[in-house]
Amino acid sequence: MKEEKPITVTSPLLPPLEEFIPYLEDIWSRKWITNNGHYHQELEKALCDYLGVEYISLFTNGTLPLITALQALRIGGEVITTPYSFVATTHSLWWNGIRPVFVDIDPATGNLDPEKVEAAITPRTTAIMPVHVYGNPCNTKALKEIADKYGLKVIYDAAHAFGVKRDGESILKAGDISTLSFHATKTYNTVEGGALICHDAETKKRIDYLKNFGFAGETTVVAPGINGKIDEIRCAYGLINLKHVDDAIAARKSVADTYREALRDVEGVRMFEEMPGVKSNYSYFPIFINEKEYGISRDALYEKMKSRDVLGRRYFYPLISEFSTYRGLPSANPANLPVATRMANEVICLPLHHDLSDSDVARTIEIVKGR
Ligand SMILES: *Cc1c(COP(=O)(O)O)cnc(C)c1O
Repeated sequence: MKEEKPITVTSPLLPPLEEFIPYLEDIWSRKWITNNGHYHQELEKALCDYLGVEYISLFTNGTLPLITALQALRIGGEVITTPYSFVATTHSLWWNGIRPVFVDIDPATGNLDPEKVEAAITPRTTAIMPVHVYGNPCNTKALKEIADKYGLKVIYDAAHAFGVKRDGESILKAGDISTLSFHATKTYNTVEGGALICHDAETKKRIDYLKNFGFAGETTVVAPGINGKIDEIRCAYGLINLKHVDDAIAARKSVADTYREALRDVEGVRMFEEMPGVKSNYSYFPIFINEKEYGISRDALYEKMKSRDVLGRRYFYPLISEFSTYRGLPSANPANLPVATRMANEVICLPLHHDLSDSDVARTIEIVKGR
């Protein structure tokens, strides 16, 4: 039985076309379409204001800032990270010749468990790369204490944490560097895009060299840099989307509130509640299915949703540590990752975006409640 149009897990926040056209006309008249142009500079400023951070460097996607952060801080050896994320987190280590060491997560947040992080440190450990998964803030205080104690750097993959605050402060201020993704599927997008947040002007300067082939002047190359630049067209698009993102987040919140209310008492369904002091961005709505209590498996529910055109996604299944590149690492053994393994086997992210109708939400709830 097919009902109307498919309900997708996300939908890109598109700037109104009529708002975009004047920006395009201006770019055409400037004839400066990339390389730190007018809109690039405007977007960096606007994002610093919006996010409440001092230094931001824009990138053409959310993976290059991870790779560049590791280069900038000269990270090598082993890095402790989470298997419960999108593959780009671990790939960024691999591309730098770094050995990932997977550590288990805390079921209350889905994020790295600091106690297990400490137990995984070896003489070769140089850094920790946690993820604020689903925008749930990590235990940044405990991770900082461990990093300080052992002389490690902390690089947060904050791809899900656009605009997330704790006790009024941006979560992006934690660690040595944080990175964002502005991919089409994220809460805030520039089609493809990303950013790196650091905390001093020297580091920002180095990052800006590294993302532009290492050029420090017309004829000076100071490092083997990469091309990570974003163009003027996407920066203009991003400036417009920034004006609309608060409305989009409000619409997401309303859907998340409805899901929580409707599903809280369903036996065998676990979900995250709002966290005290945290301003969320409602980027994902994961639910966790306990097959015994719920009656059918996560995959059976997933297929049932699909048969009714409700396209939830199993983020994050399989674990990164299950992929062929990483499976052979000792830390990838599922026995080392019991919580992550269970969560990966139980999770479905329900559709959550700014463009869902009440009937879309009702249909999703009905399927999850109805078994
Ligand atoms: C989306 C995402 C990335 C990568 O971002 P791209 O912009 O797609 O390169 C990195 N880490 C996590 C956790 C993500 O969800």
